Amino acid sequence: MADSNRITILGGGLAGCAAGLAATASQRGATIYDPARAARHRVCGEFLSPEVRDSLDLLGVWAQADACRPALMYSMRVHFGRRVCADRLPEPAIGLSRLRFDQLLREAAGNQGTNFVPERRASSPGCVLATGRQSGAASGDRIFGFKTHFSGPAGDAVELYFGDQFYVGVNPVEDGITNVCGLAPESLLRRLDFSYEALLELSPALRERTQPLRRTMNWLTTGPLVYGRRTQPPDVFAAGDAFSFIDPFTGAGMLNALETGRMAGTAAATGQSPDVYRQAVLRRLSRPLFVASVFRGAVAAGLGSLLAPWIPGRWLFALTRPG
Ligand SMILES: Cc1cc2nc3c(=O)[nH]c(=O)nc-3n(C[C@H](O)[C@H](O)[C@H](O)COP(=O)(O)OP(=O)(O)OC[C@H]3O[C@@H](n4cnc5c(N)ncnc54)[C@H](O)[C@@H]3O)c2cc1C
Repeated sequence: MADSNRITILGGGLAGCAAGLAATASQRGATIYDPARAARHRVCGEFLSPEVRDSLDLLGVWAQADACRPALMYSMRVHFGRRVCADRLPEPAIGLSRLRFDQLLREAAGNQGTNFVPERRASSPGCVLATGRQSGAASGDRIFGFKTHFSGPAGDAVELYFGDQFYVGVNPVEDGITNVCGLAPESLLRRLDFSYEALLELSPALRERTQPLRRTMNWLTTGPLVYGRRTQPPDVFAAGDAFSFIDPFTGAGMLNALETGRMAGTAAATGQSPDVYRQAVLRRLSRPLFVASVFRGAVAAGLGSLLAPWIPGRWLFALTRPG
């Protein structure tokens, strides 16, 4: 395909690869710029919302994802100190490591003719901007994310443990691996000398859950995290975290990245205006972003365990999916 007929995509993560696949489906082709030459481990809970099946199906890659034998999760358990709220998920959710997931999307996009160029780029008019989260918050108590993998008894639920100022998610991924991923403010991490093992000890329920597990990789850290919408130039198609970063506890970030990536790739390939695209994305994401920010505020104010019995997990789950 002639280079002039290709759309330009910055970022070869989930949103960027989804945009590449969508552009090919619209007969345009794409060039993805990303300084990373290959997929890598990332700080992520690796919990994929059930709707991801449809999203991957639309991109033509569900069979490849299914062939990775992802873990299935049938229920959610949310721990607020000693209080536990359990609920069945509307449909089974999927656990797949980012290394495997990013790899398969890169491969699928490449096999369909998308070019990968290992370069960092500045945005230009009409490009798909899928460069991920911004790091920021130079002042205040900055929030950091951390993650590792364990071997040992794997469950079939997504478990969230909310402690004083922090939360940690535990869920299975492929090959019997358990992902442990959380968020905490810098002040707390400094007090613990940045020992994530020490943080797991702060919650008796979490300590009990992780005690029989054996860590299989080093802890990874990312941050500082900045939530919500990002301001981007008006003439680009921003997708994934580059459009907005939703609280990780919702487990909706990757779904949003795939959906907005697909929409951005299609819009850029078919000559839609960036403004029409942006309005369509906002219609899908406004409610989940709002609900997540209200819940985050309630937990930060220490109201989590008070509100927990009154907020059914299924309800919170449904309200934080894209509309
Ligand atoms: C602690 C934590 C836990 C999470 N847990 C979950 C979860 O369990 N479930 C879930 O669904 N979501 C979760 N998320 C969110 C999820 O990880 C993101 O929503 C998802 O990775 C967004 O994909 P993306 O493609 O937008 O960005 P990314 O995956 O970050 O990809 C961006 C890419 O852009 C490249 N790039 C950056 N700048 C440039 C440039 N100038 N030029 C070219 N390339 C560039 C980068 O190298 C990178 O490869 C979590 C996030 C965090 C922080």
